[in-house]
Amino acid sequence: MTAPATDSPAPIRDPIRMEDLVALCRRRGFIFQSSEIYGGINGFWDYGPLGVALKRNLKDAWWKDMVLCPPDGPDGEPLSMVGVDCTIIMNSRVWEASGHVGGFNDPMVDCRESKARYRADHLAVLVAREDDGSRRMMAFIEGDDAQREKAGKVLAKYERAEFSPDRYMVRPFTSLARTDLTRVVGPDAKEPGTLTEPRAFSLMFKTNVGALEDASSIAYLRPETAQGIFANFQNVLDSTRVRVPFGIAQIGKAFRNEVTPRNFTFRSREFEQMEIEFFIRPDSAGEWYAFWRELRHRWWRSIGLTGANLVLREHDRDELAHYAKEGAGTCDIEYRFPFTAPGFGELEGVAHRSDFDLRRHAEFCGKGEKMRYFDQEKNERYFPHVIEPSAGADRGTLALLCEAYTPDPSRPSGVVMKFHPRMAPVKAGIFPLVNKDGMPEVSERLHRELRARFAVEHDPKQSIGKRYARMDEAGTPYCFTIDSDTLTNQTVTVRERDTLSQERIALDKVGAFLAEKIGG
Ligand code: ATP
Repeated sequence: MTAPATDSPAPIRDPIRMEDLVALCRRRGFIFQSSEIYGGINGFWDYGPLGVALKRNLKDAWWKDMVLCPPDGPDGEPLSMVGVDCTIIMNSRVWEASGHVGGFNDPMVDCRESKARYRADHLAVLVAREDDGSRRMMAFIEGDDAQREKAGKVLAKYERAEFSPDRYMVRPFTSLARTDLTRVVGPDAKEPGTLTEPRAFSLMFKTNVGALEDASSIAYLRPETAQGIFANFQNVLDSTRVRVPFGIAQIGKAFRNEVTPRNFTFRSREFEQMEIEFFIRPDSAGEWYAFWRELRHRWWRSIGLTGANLVLREHDRDELAHYAKEGAGTCDIEYRFPFTAPGFGELEGVAHRSDFDLRRHAEFCGKGEKMRYFDQEKNERYFPHVIEPSAGADRGTLALLCEAYTPDPSRPSGVVMKFHPRMAPVKAGIFPLVNKDGMPEVSERLHRELRARFAVEHDPKQSIGKRYARMDEAGTPYCFTIDSDTLTNQTVTVRERDTLSQERIALDKVGAFLAEKIGG
């Protein structure tokens, strides 16, 4: 893993405007709305040429740093890690064992007037401070400041009063009594009393496997990659030499029929996870939990989330998942996204899942205690405990985009994407200063030579200023320009993205220069 660029927290920047970032993502081919030509589909996103490269760099870095060459463990021994790649559709019993069938529900509220559906724990209501049990309440989605302001104004108008924030208080929707619902106006409704009571709503996408569409053929798209790892625990043990403590890693798609997909790719219905299940002796949970918590926090910093926008938040006891209550702990690694600022949104959870999953699978598949791990050295059998660092590749990519986005009115592009060089989709632009006089031949040759090792782009067209601007928007850390001097003294100009400094280096040293700056 490369060292963090700096350990001292950078000052908090003003949040960027999401609409600017979304526009740049579309214009430059980072992220498009899925099926856009048909009007899109809510909660699904496509990655364009720059976006796929960025996301791949993130996933490759994770695989390399966590699976291929992770650091030593807390015991000073090299970490033992292997990978798997499991199917998206699995035997439905997997989801019964994991608790997802029946348990993976969010309480939902429907609006009979607008037909919109909301997550109950995302809703809040505005109500007069002096509420006597009869005043009107306006519901809004928490975090949506515009909607909250509008709710306040509508409420004041209804009460024929001047709007003043002090006159109202905010209450979580879930704290309301059933009898209060008749006075609540939904976020997209005009009349009160149209919101239903919260009802469980399954987040799993259902499908049928095979020709028959009956109860026996029901299957689910996996809502997390973790269960494929647990279901293969025994296979991995039997087919490799790994022994506890060791980890199994997987990167893959997960699907959740989120009720309110929003905030660009942050809450999507199809997304990618990067998950590790690290199997340990039950009595070593505290030490391994501390290790993974620190390693994962450090890793996000090493790829460019270096400032105060990244925090590690330990969960309160009442937030813990059912399996983690008695464990070493659970924390979230959170990023200050523009839409969560001044608050934070989850990038990754690190959780002590105890032996919950292995025990459940042992019970549900009928193998029972036989599935316990046998520790040859100690001559004992037990169900290993698990520390699970579970990260989102799409949320990670979004955090990299937000962090990189740097408005700069002094540049022709008006913005520069300051990706960590390891994450940058394009590592270098290669330009002939003019597209004639022998320069394009040299730049094409250089391009052909470098592309075997690095993601580089050859761009012979337009003015040099416009070409630099395109590279600034793509976040390309270096540009090499071939000019008339190159033809006589075999040197090129290197332009550095962040400092705008320009220096000349030997043409035959360009590969070594790039390798030193970005690795490879
Ligand atoms: P949230 O509370 O935001 O719904 P979660 O706690 O349910 O997230 P986990 O089940 O812990 O999330 O999933 C692990 C990681 O997967 C998250 O940290 C996040 O990065 C990613 N993730 C989860 N749900 C989504 C989603 N709907 N869209 C994109 N990424 C997601």
